[in-house]
Amino acid sequence: MRTNKAYVHEIFSGIQGEGPLVGARQIFVRLCECNLACRFCDTPASRNRAATCRVERTPGKRDFEEIRNPVDVPQVVEAVAKLNRFLHHSLSLTGGEPLMQADFLGEVLPFLRVRLPIYLETNGTLPEALERIKDNIDIIAMDLKLPSATGDADHFSAHKEFLLIAAQRKKGRGEADAVFVKMVITADTSEEELVRAFSLVAEVDPNTEVILQPVSEVITPGDSASSSRPPRAPDPLQVLQWQQMGLKRLAYVRVIPQMHRLMGQL
Ligand code: SF4
Repeated sequence: MRTNKAYVHEIFSGIQGEGPLVGARQIFVRLCECNLACRFCDTPASRNRAATCRVERTPGKRDFEEIRNPVDVPQVVEAVAKLNRFLHHSLSLTGGEPLMQADFLGEVLPFLRVRLPIYLETNGTLPEALERIKDNIDIIAMDLKLPSATGDADHFSAHKEFLLIAAQRKKGRGEADAVFVKMVITADTSEEELVRAFSLVAEVDPNTEVILQPVSEVITPGDSASSSRPPRAPDPLQVLQWQQMGLKRLAYVRVIPQMHRLMGQL
């Protein structure tokens, strides 16, 4: 018997704006709640539980209708089925932090994965939750949180545990692009923390692709978690040096900014 329900912020069809799959059309299921409070957070409204979930009825039309939270498995499956009227690349679980509601994901994912590959966007700090649902995830996009960017504590130990679980899963399936790591970099990023971050990823698997993502200098109005001084983008020459540092330890290090902001997409 299915008992779990979830707090979902929104479900819509859109364009992936980050990482190696930038530009791909996906169905996004944005879940509420997050265990972190990054100062560059671009989705502050999804960090807390919302009374309603907005669901797009026609893919790309933004003709949202509201349904009451918490939602159940059939409601999410139906919303995704209605949006999947043409071929989407995959279904993106995003947030907030989707793994905060791993029990619900454990129930809904088998029904969603028969329609589309599952792409998990995660802050990489909840390895036990990943362990519970990893068999129903196809692609993992893990943020490695640099304290200079988040304004928060160091989560490197959890990140390493998370990547080890992700790597075991990848080995079993032999998928080349099943796990990659994104790092938001700012003018405050230090060489020392970047070396630690690159080394951490290389220790797990030096073939893991790392995306350096220069922070977007966008201030979100009303974001209580933002610091009074929003993070500034790094100098372009500095970015070149940091990429070189990464390439001494890792096979693939690319620089890709947040494209959905440039394109005016959700
Ligand atoms: S982990 Fe993501 S959703 Fe959570 S505060 Fe950081 S940027 Fe925002």
